Amino acid sequence: MFEEISQGSSMPIKCRRCKAENAEVYLSHLNLNLCPECFMLLTERRVKHTIDAYKMLAKNDRVGIAVSGGKDSSTLAYILNSLFDKIDMVLIYIDLGVPDYSKHCLERVEALAEMLDKELIVYSLEGEMGFKIGDFKQTVYGRKICSACGTIKRYLLNKIAYDLGLTKIATGHNLDDTLEALFNFYLEGNVEAMLRLKPYLPRTHPKFVPKIKPLIGLTDFECLLYAGYRKLPTRTVECQFSRGSRMQRRKELLNMIAEKIPNFKHSFINSHFKRILPNLEASLGSREIKIYECPTCGMPTSLEGMPCHFCKLTKTLRPQLTQRSL
Ligand code: SF4
Ligand code: ZN
Repeated sequence: MFEEISQGSSMPIKCRRCKAENAEVYLSHLNLNLCPECFMLLTERRVKHTIDAYKMLAKNDRVGIAVSGGKDSSTLAYILNSLFDKIDMVLIYIDLGVPDYSKHCLERVEALAEMLDKELIVYSLEGEMGFKIGDFKQTVYGRKICSACGTIKRYLLNKIAYDLGLTKIATGHNLDDTLEALFNFYLEGNVEAMLRLKPYLPRTHPKFVPKIKPLIGLTDFECLLYAGYRKLPTRTVECQFSRGSRMQRRKELLNMIAEKIPNFKHSFINSHFKRILPNLEASLGSREIKIYECPTCGMPTSLEGMPCHFCKLTKTLRPQLTQRSL
């Protein structure tokens, strides 16, 4: 993980930007040695550049920042708060009810909200919906619990933001997350999912709140360093379901490629968003994804005449929920 920190040499390397302080960070994709202060400034500047390039934010936006207690969402909240202090922002935390982990994360996001002086909205899955994410263990989704969790979080974030009248949802998805997801879509040939994966997903339905990913240009490593240097409150335990997940294995594989080809991650993402995606959109424009309303909950879905993915998932829990209420 720390291979990007400048290798120890007898003479300290000076920061390429300020030329005064000793460098502590080496960013291989930029071939830059930086001191902590210049690294943080450059990181913030790169996030601002992404936001401007994709026109992610406007003056009158009301933004919900999805926070999880992790390094990425804490970095996101801190940078957005310092770059756009005039924009109305609130932090949103979904308590998944994972033993120990969720309580620990809640403490971290509470500390973050206090540090940033921002309102924190906490949505408890168990309190509001009557189930915990671990309940999926006993269902057909038992082996794909992270994918079920992703669907639940996406749906609830959108619903919470919609009910609050927010105009944007910002998530901490970074370069590694995006690359991992894209890599999987390429393997599956899942073109529709590729069309939906964008740095800025605009409104496609009145009940769909636009989503932005301002950290899409930063790696896991850069977010980890930034959160560390800024001393942001971040979790120190992992979710019990993350161990050995397919997502983690794919990230490890992509990191191995990046060790051999330093610019691999950025080249992949850039060629996808700048060359492949526009071509896909141009050739598949007529097959634009239609959005319907779920007959069960009324929220937007790509499934015509069928319950949305969230309603399908929660239906699988019904036998357990009924048993519990007996
Ligand atoms: Fe959800 Fe999986 Fe992350 Fe745990 S590791 S919070 S189950 S996505
Ligand atoms: Zn539904």
